[in-house]
Amino acid sequence: MTDFDPASLLVPRTQSADEGPIVRMAQKARDMRGRGVDVVSLTVGEPDFDTPDNIQAAATAAMKAGFTHYSPVMGIPELRTALSKKLKTENALDYGPNEICVANGAKQAIANAVLSIIDKGDEVIMLAPFWVSYEIGVRFAGGTPVVLHASVEEDYKVPARRIAEAVTPRTKLLILNTPSNPTGAVWTKAELEEIAKIILAHPRMMVLSDEIYEYILFGGQMVSIGTLPGMRERTITVNGFSKGFAMTGWRLGYAAAVEPIAKAMGRMQGILSAGANQFVQRAAVAALEGPRDEVERMRLRYLARRDMVLNGLRAIPGMKIGDIPATFYAFPDVSALLGKKAGNHVMDTTDRLCDWLLDEHAVATVPGGAFGAPGSIRLSFACSEAEIEKAIARLQKALSSLL
Ligand code: PLP
Repeated sequence: MTDFDPASLLVPRTQSADEGPIVRMAQKARDMRGRGVDVVSLTVGEPDFDTPDNIQAAATAAMKAGFTHYSPVMGIPELRTALSKKLKTENALDYGPNEICVANGAKQAIANAVLSIIDKGDEVIMLAPFWVSYEIGVRFAGGTPVVLHASVEEDYKVPARRIAEAVTPRTKLLILNTPSNPTGAVWTKAELEEIAKIILAHPRMMVLSDEIYEYILFGGQMVSIGTLPGMRERTITVNGFSKGFAMTGWRLGYAAAVEPIAKAMGRMQGILSAGANQFVQRAAVAALEGPRDEVERMRLRYLARRDMVLNGLRAIPGMKIGDIPATFYAFPDVSALLGKKAGNHVMDTTDRLCDWLLDEHAVATVPGGAFGAPGSIRLSFACSEAEIEKAIARLQKALSSLL
């Protein structure tokens, strides 16, 4: 008999790394489905499409050809060369193969970047609403998140003036995500120029630009901040294959930055997991260099779904929603519904509202608190049109019944 408590060994880091509501709501939806409830889940941010055939075929061929061994830590030369070309031709970004570090997903690329440049006490400016993992990653590295908020009326983009006011001598990084999860916001060239001005005026500040939704764009132009004058040295551009190529489970992403930073990210990659899976990297070369019809077909389906969702949500009183120029997320501001009642249930927070929508109306959404925007909720429309129709009907019925 011992009174040893293994849990007492856990360090605080393990508590701060909770991904919270998305995972919780998705799991709850799955549990309800397991009990036979017909739940529509709009929780998870992953394409419902399978990976295009040409990419699958390239992976199978690479596996058969023996590419099943450890790979170079920063990625195979063929992929880094293909990525360098892709960044040049598609994004006008000028990074050579030595300035690119491949990772097991954009998530790890972000972790590699943050762990490379953020230390205890360094401040990182984050523009809310933001993707949950940024804040977790920054805290993990010991950094201090400085969260700035933008409202739906501001198209969920924090004005440059407020960013400038938040900069201190301890600021080291700004995290930018264009197009954005959860809002779909896309920053214009003029807006990025304003941000670049702030970064360039600081002696030791960089920007991490997460561009993973670049192919799910419904109009307008996607500009990479690293292309602006003076910004090549100041930018870490992160991207990945999960969203545009429907390759979430393959785990492949990358970051591009000037060589000292790229090398440091490579060291982090080496410590955390060694080089990414080789046959996946070969498949990624096929994804980059092969036909893009499937990528375009998926984009058009997201576009049609976006219109269904926008029309459906705009018909619900109390929902404030702007345009969704990119991604497969809607992020309506529902603060006008807070405080309303359904029987004994008071919807005093979006957590409660989302729980009620799931428990009583079998629609799973994610409360906005996880994204630094507690007055909004996130709905992913990376699911079938039939599911979207069902979800909208349920949301309309549920939310218009609130008193
Ligand atoms: N960046 C953003 C904004 C995301 O929404 C996600 C996934 O949800 C990622 C990065 C992570 O992508 P990956 O699957 O490549 O790790």
